[in-house]
Amino acid sequence: MSKKVVIIGGGIAGLSAGIYATMNGFDTEVIEMSAVAGGQCTAWDRKGYRFDYCLHWLVGTSKGAFHDIWKETNVINNETEIIDHEIHSRILDDEGNEFIIYSNIDRWEKSLIELAPEDKASIQKMCNDMRKSALLEPFALAPELRSPFDYIKIIPQMLPVFNVIRKFGRLTCKEYFDKLNFKSERIKSVFFSLYGNKDFSALAFIFMLGWFNQKNAGYIKGGSYPLAQRMVEKLWKLGGKLLYIKKVDKVIVENNVAKGVMLSDGTIIQADYVISAADGYSTIYNMLDAKYISKEIDFAYKNWELFTPIVQVSFGVNKAIPSDSPILINISKEKLIGKTKLENGYSIMNYAYDSTMAPEGKTTIVLRFDSPWKLWENMDVKEYKAEKLQIQKDATAYLEKEYPGISEFIEVIDVATPKTDVRYTGVKDGAYEGFMPSKDNMMKSLKMKLPGLQNFYMAGQWLFPGGGLPPSAQTGKWAVQLICKNEKQQFKII
Ligand SMILES: Cc1cc2nc3c(=O)[nH]c(=O)nc-3n(C[C@H](O)[C@H](O)[C@H](O)COP(=O)(O)OP(=O)(O)OC[C@H]3O[C@@H](n4cnc5c(N)ncnc54)[C@H](O)[C@@H]3O)c2cc1C
Repeated sequence: MSKKVVIIGGGIAGLSAGIYATMNGFDTEVIEMSAVAGGQCTAWDRKGYRFDYCLHWLVGTSKGAFHDIWKETNVINNETEIIDHEIHSRILDDEGNEFIIYSNIDRWEKSLIELAPEDKASIQKMCNDMRKSALLEPFALAPELRSPFDYIKIIPQMLPVFNVIRKFGRLTCKEYFDKLNFKSERIKSVFFSLYGNKDFSALAFIFMLGWFNQKNAGYIKGGSYPLAQRMVEKLWKLGGKLLYIKKVDKVIVENNVAKGVMLSDGTIIQADYVISAADGYSTIYNMLDAKYISKEIDFAYKNWELFTPIVQVSFGVNKAIPSDSPILINISKEKLIGKTKLENGYSIMNYAYDSTMAPEGKTTIVLRFDSPWKLWENMDVKEYKAEKLQIQKDATAYLEKEYPGISEFIEVIDVATPKTDVRYTGVKDGAYEGFMPSKDNMMKSLKMKLPGLQNFYMAGQWLFPGGGLPPSAQTGKWAVQLICKNEKQQFKII
């Protein structure tokens, strides 16, 4: 009889773990508390419009170890259409000044030098750091399974990246921009507004633009929902099971060995191995009662800053509205939307580039802004309803600023708040990508095994500051590699 693997959570990490466990002959069951799989990687339909919550860029759309995972899990197949945007984002300030970030670094460098010839040397330096960062290759094997030779053999190719990591690995964006010493007020104002007011890691900024330059961080037409569904199809096709609307309350442990899970309705599901791909905090502190914890884990969950949650206002517009840029970021500060003071401005995403998002002749547009969890956590029902209405009103006014006259064509408005995310996925404090990558944690990760607990593995975005779809799927794969090692069987891909 095959050994049984139970996976808590049917987000991208859980689906990935489920697919690889099934491929490797385990009797696999993924348990998802929601009615749909995908977790944060989701979308919803309203009157023919699709409102996407997640996908904008997927590292690994063209090559590398992440690309292999996307192909193996059916995220990318012969039918998927990948869109590489020429413009990464368009930034607007309060005076209406425009600043464009191009995905192609040569093009961006040229435009930056035209804008600020006095900063030529600093611009070239920054762009070179980004070019070098593109040489970073993720590992295909879980850390525990790598030999020293696996590290040695990448040294020649990765030497320039190591240098970037050594120089900037412990800098925030602000410190990095200070070091570059830009003189242009325009460049300073945009960079500092976007990334300078948080403890955001300089490396995260450098790597992000490096991946775009390689055309290895595209958008997949159709967005988040079909992406997750393709993984569900693959899981089913292989014979894996996926239970919906079943919430895990506890991991069952006997003599420090995970033996299964208990659901909130009292059902017990026994297993030989348990992988948790659910929210990290709930797993460690609630499902396992904080019994299996190291100093590093406790420190991370108590001290590392979380992503500020977002409010997403989605608009269905009965008019075709073209756009040359997938995202427009307005860096106005100190303004209000509902009760939220905009610390990082707001962004507007026009999905005109993806025809699946709205009926022909119509457009889906999404406006998002950061909104701290403390504003939401204790809001009562009455206040919550009123706040959503106010947000709807304020957001429409900002949309009108960008697209004058649009209001009369808006036929659907949908407001999703940090509370919505917590309700559907259980993510801690609405931190949709887990820990924020900062100068203190950017080069760190949390272990997949918890100290003292056998036959149990963590997977998902909480293991790597910055989160994201690639590390989530990767850790799902790694968890199964570790189980295979434990079972002394060869890990295989079918
Ligand atoms: C607005 C937004 C934009 C983003 N943009 C991008 C992007 O462009 N590119 C990118 O790479 N990443 C992006 N991300 C991040 C990415 O979506 C996440 O990092 C990733 O989906 C996390 O996957 P996960 O499986 O680790 O966790 P989750 O998606 O949180 O999945 C956890 C799953 O576990 C389930 N669960 C929780 N508790 C239980 C329980 N007790 N019992 C049963 N089930 C449970 C939840 O319902 C959920 O389905 C974005 C996220 C958001 C929200």
